[in-house]
Parts: sequence; C-alpha cells; structure tokens
Amino acid sequence: MSFSHLGLSEKVLAAVAATGYKTPTPIQDQAIPHVLARRDVLGIAQTGTGKTAAFVLPMLTMLEKGRARARMPRTLILEPTRELAAQVEESFARYGANHKLNVALIIGGVSFDNQDSKLTRGVDVLIATPGRLLDHNERGRLLLTGVELLVIDEADRMLDMGFIPDIERICKLVPFTRQTLFFTATMPPEIRRITEQFLHNPVRVEVAKPATTVATTAQFLARSGREPHDKRDTLRRLIRSAQGLKNAIVFCNRKRDVATLHRSLQRHGFSVQALHGDMDQPARMAALEQFRKGEVTLLVASDVAARGLDIPDVSHVYNFDVPIHPDDYVHRIGRTGRAGRTGVAISIVAGANDAKAVAAIEKLIGQSIPYMDKQMDKQLDKQPAPSAASQHPPQRQHSDHRRHAHRPAAVARIDEARSRRTPLPARPRQDDSDASHLPAFLLRPVTVKA
Ligand code: AMP
Repeated sequence: MSFSHLGLSEKVLAAVAATGYKTPTPIQDQAIPHVLARRDVLGIAQTGTGKTAAFVLPMLTMLEKGRARARMPRTLILEPTRELAAQVEESFARYGANHKLNVALIIGGVSFDNQDSKLTRGVDVLIATPGRLLDHNERGRLLLTGVELLVIDEADRMLDMGFIPDIERICKLVPFTRQTLFFTATMPPEIRRITEQFLHNPVRVEVAKPATTVATTAQFLARSGREPHDKRDTLRRLIRSAQGLKNAIVFCNRKRDVATLHRSLQRHGFSVQALHGDMDQPARMAALEQFRKGEVTLLVASDVAARGLDIPDVSHVYNFDVPIHPDDYVHRIGRTGRAGRTGVAISIVAGANDAKAVAAIEKLIGQSIPYMDKQMDKQLDKQPAPSAASQHPPQRQHSDHRRHAHRPAAVARIDEARSRRTPLPARPRQDDSDASHLPAFLLRPVTVKA
C-alpha cells in the first residue's frame, strides 16, 4: 500500500516521496483518511509509530485552502514538552517543504517578543506547550476563536505533568465546531474523561497495544550497591564493557541526579550531555542536537525531558534509576530498537525498592527481565579458577550470541595491541577500579612479540 490512496495533496505526496517513505505506517494508514474527512480522531499510539506524520500530512493538505489572519491561528497543536513541540515544527518544515505556510512555536524558555511578532503576522499552524499558550492568550495577544483544527498530542504525558486543567481551559477557548485529533499512548480514566468531554463522535484508531516493549530490544537488569557512587561505578562498567555501543541515553528519575551524573561522567572522560527540565531552552536544544548529530555519545536525561524524542538509532538505553511508574519504562526503552533496529536496554537495580519496581514493570510488559550477572555466573563455571577479581560479580551480556557481540573493552584492547604487535599501553588509572569487576582470565598479562 502506498501513500497515494490516502487522499493527500500532490504537494504533500511529493514531500513524502522526497523524504524517502514508501509506505504509510499503520497509524498513518488508518488515521489520515478520517482526518481528511474532518472527523475527530482518537489515536492510541506511542511515539515511534509515525503518529506525527499521521496528523501533519493531512493538516498540510487541508491548509492549502484559506489563509491566516493576524493573531488568529488556523490550527493549534499542543505538546507536553518544548522538545516535542520543536520536533513537530521540524516535521512541518520537512513535509511542508512545498508549502508556504506560517508555522509558529510558542514554548516557554524563549523570548515572548519574537513569538508575539510571529503571531501578529498570522499563523497557519501554532505549535505550543499549554502554559506559554495560555500566557499569550491572557495577555490578549492571541485569539483562539479561529482555530479550525486542534491536535492534543501525548495526552497521557500531559496528565503526568499536571497539564489537564490547562488543556480543559484551552479546549473551551477554541470553537466548539473545530475538529480535534487526540493522541495518547495509554488510556487512564482521566484521559478517557477528557476524550468523552471534548471529542465529538471520534474515530478510534489503535495501532499497538499500549505498554508493549519493542521486540528488537534486548532487556537486562544489572545489580548494584545502593549508594549513588556504587551506581555510578556500575554504570561506568556497563558502558565501558558494552560492545556495539553507538550512543546511549541514561535515564535518571530526578533532575538533580541528571546534573550530578552528567558531571561525574564528564569527570571520568565520557563524551556526555545532559537534558533536564531546569536547563534553559537553548541549552536543551543544543544538547539534543549534539546528541542527534553524534557529537556526544551519551545523553543523561530525565523522563520529562526525553519523552517522545525522535532520535532514530539509539543503540543503548540505561536506566540509572528504575523508573517509579512502569509506563515510563516502556517509554524509556522505546528510545532504542526503533524502526526495526536492534537495541539494548539495561536497568540498574539497587535494593528492594528497585526490585519491587521491576516486578511492576515485568507485570506490565508481561515478560521477565533477566539479570546479567546470573548469566555471568553460568559463564564463569566454564572459566579457569576464579581470582580476587571474582569477589565482585562481573557483569557481562547474558546470552551466548550476545556474549561475543559485547566483549569487554579490556579484551578489545588486548586484541588491538596483539594485532599491532606492540607492548600493551599502561591501563589508565581511571580504569583500575573497573578491573576488579573483570574475570581473571581477561586480566592475565599478554606476551606480545616486539
Ligand atoms: P513518530 O512516531 O511521529 O515520532 O515517528 C517516528 C519516526 O518514524 C520518525 O523518525 C519519522 O521520521 C519516521 N516515519 C514516519 N512515518 C514514516 C513512514 N511512513 N515510513 C518510514 N518512517 C516513517
């Protein structure tokens, strides 16, 4: 099935072809014809399903007729975070390459005045976070009475972030007759209530069971001591021993821990950026851009900052903290294994509370997540006699096929030195603490012919 049967305009089809997409994703296939038929749509879909294009493509088609008036946007898209809003703006730039539409971004953390002057010129598409939108409205700088189409994206995240009262206010400021497209990954009772109140006879489109984890992501648990420095040590070991690590997102539960862990990883020589809600907008965008472009390898992030980010090929996700809400686990590990690629997600488990949280996650996702060190114990049974090194259980990837794919960095160094037929360089001081976690056979001196 191609895009051509969906009813999209020629301009939009040309932009889609230029992007290289051949077939619509299920949410696009099912939602786009209804959006074009001006129906309200309730889309139950997670990020990564192509849901952004499911509303952007038909909106572009519909906006080809008519024009914008000053301070009266024609369409409004609500996003829970500034990053998501900026991502949707990028989608309009990409898919709207053949259109001359005015798109404005109204988000916190950037200057009011620039946003205001854009509004004065008239906007076809206004993409906003709820708080800043209401600020503009209260100042009398923005009228929502011309909105023909309202998109509420990531509604369950809005609920988590306490935005539902704002959403209710905004829904009352836009005309009753507008079309509404509503996207959520899950349907808690509060979200159901909102949909019943503000959607008119919606078409329900559900593309994947909520709370399913991506099949292409290998998930593991790693034991750690409880103290923050123990956990940081465990994380460094996991990162250093991961083979095939292209880039990774490390999730913390609290913003202050994001900052601490970021500094610690920097001190230990890792290429790392941070993303949390207390950073100002330019800093957040810059961090994200550096990570996207591969200029830094690691991104330490909080859930709010990272929710729904479109970073297509993250190879690893580390949960520095096991998330408190099981739903967050699904969202976090959804950052890897995207678009059919394989990924690895490892959660550090430190103590009974974490173990309890893991049990809740396993219940939600309907599968158990193996501990890496159990598998490692089995491996060790087959190895030569243990040494002082095995006092700390070593951690390695757990299944046989992964064992080879994830050789510890020390082995790689030995191989590299062997192939160059040069003496092994001295291990940097910083790595010494890690050596105690490696099995003895990896640490035996290697004689290399000069
Ligand atoms: P989203 O769920 O909107 O965050 O989209 C996830 C990713 O899928 C983005 O990187 C899109 O560029 C990509 N994408 C969207 N639609 C398609 C499609 N029809 N074919 C291939 N990739 C797509």
